[in-house]
Amino acid sequence: MDNGYRLSVRDLVAFCFPPEDITPGGGVEDMLAGGQAHRARQGRQEGQTEIPIQHIYWLGAEELELFGRMDAFTQGEVPLVEEMKLSAWQGDAPLPEHWAQAVCYADMAAREWGAAEVRVQVSYLSIGGEVLRVFEQTLTAQELAIQVDRWLNAYLLFARRERAHQEARDASIRSLAFPYPSFRAGQRELAAQVYTAVSRKKRLFASLPTGTGKSAAVLYPALKALGEGKTTKLLYLTARNTARQSPLQALERMKAQGLRARVSVLTAKEKLCPHMTRCHPDDCPRAKGHYLRQEDAVEELLQDEALLWTDEVIMDAAQKHTLCPFELALRLTELSDVAMMDLNYAFDPFAQAKRLMNQRRKMTLLVDEAHHTVDRVRESLSGELDSAVLKPYRAAFGKQKGRKHPYYLALNRVIHELCALAAPTGDESRLTELPAALTESVTELMEQASALLAAPYGIDIGGVVEMLRLTLPFLYAAEHLAEDYGILLNAHGKDRGIALYCLLPGKEIARITKPMSGAVFFSGTLSPLPAMRQLLGGTEEDACFSLPSPFPSDNLAVVRGRVSTRYEDREISAQQVADCIVQAVRGKVGNYIAYFPSYAYLQLVLSHLSDGADLPELWIQRRDMTEEDREDFFTAFSAGTKPRLGLCVLGGLFSEGVDLPGECLIGVIVVGVGLPTPSQKLRAIQDCYGAHFGDGFGYACRIPAMQKVLQAGGRLIRSETDKGLLVLLDNRYYHREYASLLPPDWRLCGEDIAKAAKELWS
Ligand code: SF4
Repeated sequence: MDNGYRLSVRDLVAFCFPPEDITPGGGVEDMLAGGQAHRARQGRQEGQTEIPIQHIYWLGAEELELFGRMDAFTQGEVPLVEEMKLSAWQGDAPLPEHWAQAVCYADMAAREWGAAEVRVQVSYLSIGGEVLRVFEQTLTAQELAIQVDRWLNAYLLFARRERAHQEARDASIRSLAFPYPSFRAGQRELAAQVYTAVSRKKRLFASLPTGTGKSAAVLYPALKALGEGKTTKLLYLTARNTARQSPLQALERMKAQGLRARVSVLTAKEKLCPHMTRCHPDDCPRAKGHYLRQEDAVEELLQDEALLWTDEVIMDAAQKHTLCPFELALRLTELSDVAMMDLNYAFDPFAQAKRLMNQRRKMTLLVDEAHHTVDRVRESLSGELDSAVLKPYRAAFGKQKGRKHPYYLALNRVIHELCALAAPTGDESRLTELPAALTESVTELMEQASALLAAPYGIDIGGVVEMLRLTLPFLYAAEHLAEDYGILLNAHGKDRGIALYCLLPGKEIARITKPMSGAVFFSGTLSPLPAMRQLLGGTEEDACFSLPSPFPSDNLAVVRGRVSTRYEDREISAQQVADCIVQAVRGKVGNYIAYFPSYAYLQLVLSHLSDGADLPELWIQRRDMTEEDREDFFTAFSAGTKPRLGLCVLGGLFSEGVDLPGECLIGVIVVGVGLPTPSQKLRAIQDCYGAHFGDGFGYACRIPAMQKVLQAGGRLIRSETDKGLLVLLDNRYYHREYASLLPPDWRLCGEDIAKAAKELWS
């Protein structure tokens, strides 16, 4: 449909019948329970179920295609359209939005199949599929048409305005120049690759080192494709909020040059919420009547085309109109052309921006820092329960509400089912199937927890919210067990823990991204590219692209020290590591950071370092650092005048996403090769990767480890004029498997730290 409009029944009804208040629910618990109820009911249904239907409406000279899926349809003299809802609704009439949905399907059925009348039915179901209430009415084709035409015409006013915006936006994109005076080396090729990926609806995997200006070089061609109608929206995903700065700057520049695109930022609810209470009209004044006030705020924001809808702008508008800032941010995300958000909003089933992702076929994903994606998606798809963790919650609840409360009994049953699992024998701690009784008990607990929280004045006694947080991912994983999950059992005393661990997140990443209008995964350390493509669910059809560092390779001296940092050798090697650090910092007065594989090893080396003289001021990363502590640490390096030596943990806060250009950081020492601590989960991933990709250890351990090393080393050279000394302390940097993962533009300068430093700085 080139000039017409296309709309789902669900979206039409959501547009015409918005709720007044924000209420809990609508999350995955509802989805899981709703799915169960539908399946149970449909299993007993006589007619057809889940029937896709669409119809093209003519509204004056304009064409609109409405589409959806009927829950159930029965042919007959007067056909029956049934809409099923999981709800214990007790009113005298069905809820208007449910009725409207059924009416839309009935109208389409009447028009498509020429029925003069249709029986319209809304059924309210229990979770087991039992019919609790039924509302039915027979409507003529004309009665149906009058109602649906009215709703469609209301929607059309909004759709026309959106189209006018898109036309103005596209015109501005056609004349948009690259936001910087010229393309840097490689940026033009990258832009061509991105444009092709979006135009052909393909995935692109790109390794783009610091200095390649990746944000602008990815956004600019993607916007060009947007302006040509090859996609409808760009979702720019990051793993950390701080990574949004550079793309926002690029977009700001483009807006200053005349780009008329709407740009929004979606930040986590916990960061935006001014109340931190239950999202319910009884508890939060902003939740009450939120949707009645929201459109006024949106209209105001739409007036100022130059504005980027950042957190500050959204918070101000929310304050002015007494709105929930998170819900407002979600709405703006829907209206925007470029939306920045965390990875979770696209991939985590519990955080996913559903209304947005339901339309994902027409959208493009730009995934920055894409090397984080596999682990982040894995965590969001996995679930874990442990009787030792659950017992204190049971005790706390029992104390306040008694041991006969249905929630207490449900929690008790889950603990009982867990403890009844036989202890693993020998090394065998993987189950081949999940005991059905355990799943049933967890489902019951989830229902009890949801009921407690959804009730008026819902209670969070004994960590009911936390219990939902634990049970939902577990049940989600239980539903998807066939898709390469490990069922991992661990025993400690009488307690048992069970983890449903997602082993191949690439499948889910592929499921989400494959149908989209292009997806670009990029990062400074997305290497080796073919392996990362596999891990991220790509195939050989998807392109890989890499750029070398644009900075002179002479500016970086890399020294590999032969030290054993293996766990069993750490006591012995600590002094050697300390000596190497001292040698490095003596090469030139300035700021250095040494990265360690663990806090314990850091402390061990520190005890040897303390004896040394002439050390710069020491700054040591701690596990319990507050936001303020982190800021102080960063400021000490970025704005301090004294030389400093930071001792940090590899893969931690200060080894990635920290920009310390010029003299702010002149040397980095990486202790070890960054391998993860062995664990039951890691072994399961390794086995799975071994079966799928051949090199289990390489894919599960070595590649992610070396990405951490590359990230740490990447802190050093941030501009054309930066110079730096990088010391890699581990024998394994001489092993082919590890050495081959070092970037080709890292200039290797032998083993002598003092000599390399002297040459570099002289
Ligand atoms: S303001 Fe906070 S508590 Fe209120 S609805 Fe929004 S997120 Fe929930």
